[in-house]
Amino acid sequence: MTDQFSPEERAALSPYFTNLDGPVFALVNLPEVVKGALFARYSRSPKSLRRLFLDEFLNTGVAPHANRGGVGGGISPPPTSTEEAERETGRARAEDLYGRMFFEYGDDSVAQLGGAHLACEGASNLLTKVLEWGRLAAYLEQSTRYVPYDDLVGGHYRYHVPGELEGDLRDRYVRTLDAMFDTYRELLPILREHLSGRFPKNQQTSDAAYRMSIRAKALDTLRGLLPAATTSNVGIYGTGQAYENLLLRMRAHPLLEVRAYADLMLAELRKVIPAFLRRVDLPDRGTAWSSYLSETRQETARVAAELLPDDAVVPRDEVTLTDFDPEGEVKVVAAALYAVSDAPDDRLLDVARKLTEDERRAVLAAYVGRRTNRRHRPGRAFERTSYRFDVLADYGAFRDLQRHRLLTLEWQRLSPRHGSVMPEAIAEARVDARWHRSLDASAALHDAIAAAGLAEVAPYAVAMAYRVRFYMEMNAREAMHLIELRSAPQGHPAYRRIAQTMHRLIAERAGHRALAAAMTFADHSEVALERLEAERAAERRRGGR
Ligand SMILES: Cc1cc2nc3c(=O)[nH]c(=O)nc-3n(C[C@H](O)[C@H](O)[C@H](O)COP(=O)(O)OP(=O)(O)OC[C@H]3O[C@@H](n4cnc5c(N)ncnc54)[C@H](O)[C@@H]3O)c2cc1C
Repeated sequence: MTDQFSPEERAALSPYFTNLDGPVFALVNLPEVVKGALFARYSRSPKSLRRLFLDEFLNTGVAPHANRGGVGGGISPPPTSTEEAERETGRARAEDLYGRMFFEYGDDSVAQLGGAHLACEGASNLLTKVLEWGRLAAYLEQSTRYVPYDDLVGGHYRYHVPGELEGDLRDRYVRTLDAMFDTYRELLPILREHLSGRFPKNQQTSDAAYRMSIRAKALDTLRGLLPAATTSNVGIYGTGQAYENLLLRMRAHPLLEVRAYADLMLAELRKVIPAFLRRVDLPDRGTAWSSYLSETRQETARVAAELLPDDAVVPRDEVTLTDFDPEGEVKVVAAALYAVSDAPDDRLLDVARKLTEDERRAVLAAYVGRRTNRRHRPGRAFERTSYRFDVLADYGAFRDLQRHRLLTLEWQRLSPRHGSVMPEAIAEARVDARWHRSLDASAALHDAIAAAGLAEVAPYAVAMAYRVRFYMEMNAREAMHLIELRSAPQGHPAYRRIAQTMHRLIAERAGHRALAAAMTFADHSEVALERLEAERAAERRRGGR
């Protein structure tokens, strides 16, 4: 049963709700803070939302001008100055209302009820990794595959110059990074030509698609020359709470760029969702919280410096499975039975242990089912067991893998100490000497900045071909998503290799062969692409190329 509204009430409601009769409706043309405050009232009121709006919100002036938009929204004409003034008063009242609710209810869920889209442009790759840390937000970032970094914007290549650098060191930084971008720019046409020879166009591909794919391959290959200071554009969509957490972390960050960016973000977010961000810079709230974050980080680094030996760099596999549960597969079988039985959790584990291999496989086969798309993922039973991988991969691959949010991932400081990775095409195109010269200059600059006591700033200078160490700990369900997505043929070769190794380690090292077997979905277009690539490779071999 939904509420009945009088004709006057319907007129008042219609600009703000996508329908007035059904139990499901969307809220439109309302400030985020009003939508948040309305939802928050659900907690303590028996009334429906539309009734709450009429009784408690509409007459307080919290809604923008009532004649705008209409059901379903749409683009409204620009507001008049009276409407603008009304809107401002309404917003101020809503802010006040929301603020009281936020503090009275004292509930974090209230801070999750409003969101904002925020564009963050010109952020270094070190900063984008900080921006994309939070799990509960969505991000979209400029691609190094589709956007070439060979152009000058306002006479400068697109990289960040850290405010911490001064004098000669700053001059050297600019000279070195300019030279790194020059190399990238000069090698781009050479690589395109080389790759066109290696992957000739077939008749089915249009000229434009072919040109795009060669350019993408060339950009993928040269990405390693770009320094971590390279700037990027990121779009973020998040709730007030996600932004609050992000800003608290950013304000505690050792890099000037990150802290300065936090100030810019706070100022802009306060223009759209101010009530959600009231606490960020209050001395006894957000500031104390940020201090806690930076103090614990510094203290842990101090203790670690005392306790840890300064180990020489020893060769290490790109991916190491450092932790897993030998009984993980049996536990997933037990968990698969849980929701369709009445038995307690531990009893089901006993049962699963006693099943034969074939019986366990039958449970998993039923649970995984027939997947016709990689997005058809089995359920939460796959979250019963986890894998922890230590990865030593080039920064470019790290940059991509760090985007996965449903796992735990932390990284170490980027430096040249773990060496670098060079794509095969660089040697094939005979530009390896120039590649190495650029990387050596990047490493020398890193060392000079670190020697000047600016260890946190030095990573800006490091080319993305250098390796960084990070761990990824994930349950089997996320492993399935990540491995299937990141091993697909259209992915970057660097992370494809990592995903394939993870898959092999789950099967062979953890011995979870049945789980690994479930993680092999490839959709038909992907299979077709693989086959096409294989056919072309065979053709090239036959032609002696
Ligand atoms: C070939 C290729 C090209 C790409 N190009 C670009 C690019 O140009 N720009 C770019 O920014 N990224 C790009 N990406 C990265 C991609 O868009 C995702 O950011 C990345 O795959 C990680 O996010 P995810 O949702 O897949 O996985 P995870 O973050 O690991 O999440 C796993 C699953 O959890 C759920 N989930 C996670 N977070 C949320 C959330 N906030 N809300 C709702 N559901 C959630 C989703 O179901 C998701 O599939 C590319 C990836 C590939 C493979």
